[in-house]
Amino acid sequence: MKHKLMVVSGPSGVGKGTIVKTLIKRRSDVVESVSCTTRAPREGETHGKEYFFLTKAEFLERLEKQDFLEYDEHFGNYYGTPISFVEETLKTKSVILEIDVVGALNVKKRLPEAVLVMIVPPSIEELKRRLEGRETETAEQIQNRLSRLEYELSQKEKYDFVVVNDELERAISEVEGILDGSACKK
Ligand code: 5GP
Repeated sequence: MKHKLMVVSGPSGVGKGTIVKTLIKRRSDVVESVSCTTRAPREGETHGKEYFFLTKAEFLERLEKQDFLEYDEHFGNYYGTPISFVEETLKTKSVILEIDVVGALNVKKRLPEAVLVMIVPPSIEELKRRLEGRETETAEQIQNRLSRLEYELSQKEKYDFVVVNDELERAISEVEGILDGSACKK
């Protein structure tokens, strides 16, 4: 089977991280790309695991060297997908990128064979509740994320697949089916 590049997006708090991490734990033939960012690590985050934490100067230097498959700025910080990691890993495994809508559409432009999957909440109210329950962020950060919600959901038509995270196990199986090519494209 050819290895896939799957791009998973969805509003903050929708549970995409849990879906991707569970899938990766279960499957030795799938890995998650580690992005670079200039934001500060949150408590419990490690360099090279959740992200490669770079200074702005380091990020801009790599950008100049065209080291990113795509990059974007969120909340005043840069985020980018290192191209070398993705290309190298695709030789032996499937790769999942967990990135925002703008990044995902940029990846598709550059690599049309990439499969775009958007995770959506069963309801916006439910998502707001989940987001406000997070204790890692300030009220202002949460407000920023909520204001992106509408925009992100409005882009779902551009995705190959839309998965509703109504029940975690069900959503994971659906994403796994897409990865294995058993799901029908909409
Ligand atoms: P957070 O700071 O919560 O980890 O991520 C903030 C936003 O950056 C999220 O929407 C996340 O999906 C996005 N993001 C993370 N890595 C990348 C990346 O490599 N490229 C782009 N374009 N967005 C990313």
